[in-house]
Amino acid sequence: MYIVLLGPPGAGKGTQAQRLAAATGLVHISTGDMFREHVRNGTELGKVAKSYMDRGELVPDEVTIAMLLERLEQPDAAKGAMFDGYPRNVTQARALDEALAKRGAKIDRALLIEVSDEELVARLGGRWMCRRCGAVYHERNDPPKTPGICDRCGGELYQRDDDKPDVVRARLEKQKPPADLIEYYRERGVLRTVNGEQPLDAVTQALLEAIGPWPSA
Ligand code: ADP
Ligand code: ADP
Ligand code: ZN
Repeated sequence: MYIVLLGPPGAGKGTQAQRLAAATGLVHISTGDMFREHVRNGTELGKVAKSYMDRGELVPDEVTIAMLLERLEQPDAAKGAMFDGYPRNVTQARALDEALAKRGAKIDRALLIEVSDEELVARLGGRWMCRRCGAVYHERNDPPKTPGICDRCGGELYQRDDDKPDVVRARLEKQKPPADLIEYYRERGVLRTVNGEQPLDAVTQALLEAIGPWPSA
């Protein structure tokens, strides 16, 4: 089973992807996390990606698609995956579909998480992330047990540079899921929309219902 999570920055894709991955056993693939790891490791790809991320812009498709397709080749993604933050446009969606088609697979669900702009700004402004494992927290809505420390791995929490107000504004302008991307999945009959402006557990529940009966084999 292959699932994509769609939604504007701050909708809760990363948070919910981790929960859904735990519930379904699917591997969680986040292009944002992959880019941040490249930045941390100082790779060439990281340098390119950072110049876009710092401005709240999308990293060019060529670079992003190559990175994602390489990840998809890993054995843990052979039977399914939960994509978070990919695709951001129809070009990326088509590239993923072509790669899946080669293995006789397809996207089974596109889950669109909807949240109002006002709430997105409040979420991004209070977001803290784990440097080590990428776990997501919110200083008010979903705080760690000990401030500054990750519950899951004990890693250090930090606030992302691109969660500063001016970059958030750029991201909300440039990075909402485009209408043609939503249409792309609607036409294929796999789109499900979920109200993301509910407590965390309620959103997880709604997403699990939207995924539907889990294949037993
Ligand atoms: P968000 O908080 O918006 O969910 P992500 O962690 O998914 O952010 O992504 C962080 C940044 O990484 C984005 O602002 C963008 O620059 C880049 N990025 C992540 N995924 C993609 C993608 N599929 N295509 C292009 N750029 C991406
Ligand atoms: P995305 O990956 O879509 O950018 P995140 O999962 O990183 O979104 O969530 C953005 C911020 O909002 C985080 O600080 C997270 O703790 C918080 N958050 C996520 N879901 C909810 C929710 N249902 N209610 C309140 N806060 C939430
Ligand atoms: Zn951690």
